[in-house]
Amino acid sequence: MDVRTAVVLGGSVAGLMAARVLSDHAESVVVVEADDLEAGGARPGAPQSVQLHALLDMGRTQIERWFPGLTAELVAGGAVASDGVRMRQYVDGALKVVVPGHELIGATRPFLEARIRRRVLALRNVRLVRGRAEGLRFTGRRVSGVRYLPVGDGADWDGGSGRECLTADFVVDATGRSSRLGAWLDKAGWQPPPLERMHIDLGYATALFRRGEELPDVSVAHSVESPPAPGQPQLDAGAMAEVEGGRWMAVLVAYADRRPTKDPEEFVARCARVRAAALREMVTRCEMLGDVAVHRVPDSRRRHFWDLRRFPAGLAAAGDAVASFNPVYGQGMASASLHASCLSAFLRSGAPLDEPAWGYFKRLRVVVDAAWQLSTLSDLAQPHVSGPYPPGYRVASWYGSRLLAASITDTELNRRFLDVINMREHPRLFTRPGTVWRVAARTLTSRARW
Ligand SMILES: Cc1cc2nc3c(=O)[nH]c(=O)nc-3n(C[C@H](O)[C@H](O)[C@H](O)COP(=O)(O)OP(=O)(O)OC[C@H]3O[C@@H](n4cnc5c(N)ncnc54)[C@H](O)[C@@H]3O)c2cc1C
Repeated sequence: MDVRTAVVLGGSVAGLMAARVLSDHAESVVVVEADDLEAGGARPGAPQSVQLHALLDMGRTQIERWFPGLTAELVAGGAVASDGVRMRQYVDGALKVVVPGHELIGATRPFLEARIRRRVLALRNVRLVRGRAEGLRFTGRRVSGVRYLPVGDGADWDGGSGRECLTADFVVDATGRSSRLGAWLDKAGWQPPPLERMHIDLGYATALFRRGEELPDVSVAHSVESPPAPGQPQLDAGAMAEVEGGRWMAVLVAYADRRPTKDPEEFVARCARVRAAALREMVTRCEMLGDVAVHRVPDSRRRHFWDLRRFPAGLAAAGDAVASFNPVYGQGMASASLHASCLSAFLRSGAPLDEPAWGYFKRLRVVVDAAWQLSTLSDLAQPHVSGPYPPGYRVASWYGSRLLAASITDTELNRRFLDVINMREHPRLFTRPGTVWRVAARTLTSRARW
């Protein structure tokens, strides 16, 4: 074994995937998680869990890689696998051409996470400790442990400091977008990773509905709205997916001062105006179950670990702790699973573990930058988003809107579009000559028709 004890901070999707990978390389893996994961309901440490979470095709592929048979297990438990034929995508109200493939899993996030967790905790060398990580211990130029405050049953709340330390020779921070790793590094005299933020001010509202006989040919529907012309309001976008328990989960998405509220009547009224016929039909025909849950995402953010010059050995970060994007593109869990693959490739590469994990961060950067490029290009076109604009933004934005328009009716372009959206292909597929030529041809043909 390369590692004696690995500690993963955070027991959500990224932490569980990292723990699974580490179990192949460490004698023992300890996952430290602050929340009571078996409690059910909304989790304070991952409040987004109650919102619609679709597992993209690449996420499903990776999860299947690390947990063979899990897709079938999810489906047997009620999750819904959509192969593209039952998927409806709308762009500015126009229904896109159907492309088979791109299998997406529709399930509530707690359902999916519980099944991944069960698989991870069944591994003989992985255990979960309930506690709040509060810092790292360093020995020389490497991490040697984690300080944490036990939480829950048996935790010492008021006697002594109550703090404990876990010895570790490899630590992965997977504590999500509010990770304190930068502050811990800074306090110990290390450089924190530079944090880049793009203000998006996104509002999400999610509700469940009882599924009936309506829309038998649809399992997922998703609408995208182009940014408004100057002076015009941004139109609401929305999505819905069939989930376990014979239910639909629907989400309403809007920005800035149009962010949705918890009001169920407002939710139904606004969904009924979204330019996605399937969503309109569903909310007007089906009964809402429970309350509307809202969530605000102020910014997309990424931490540039790869830009650091000094970093302790035995330390890595994964998932939203590295990068968290506008969730409308549904890339979070697929990204987290690809981070796990980067970790696996790094650990298998034989890189010396008494040096910083540069080989991991180099691989990670490819995944993070691809997802960032995709989500921020669309976000930057929103009138309330003020940058930072990357070089070549205007051309990229113009070309992106042409590609999106052409993919409405061109099956091959929509296949390539979905390959990238599902993280099966790098966004550079969009700028390969074959794709550019096809977009140009489609654009010219549609102009000639006018
Ligand atoms: C509104 C919304 C909708 C989304 N929709 C989708 C979607 O459709 N598809 C998709 O793939 N992704 C989606 N995402 C993204 C997705 O939620 C995350 O990318 C994914 O959960 C991976 O997160 P993570 O494990 O890195 O962090 P999180 O899920 O945020 O988990 C962090 C974990 O760390 C724990 N923790 C935090 N601090 C400490 C500490 N000090 N000590 C111990 N434990 C700690 C927390 O309790 C939590 O369990 C969405 C996100 C949002 C906000």
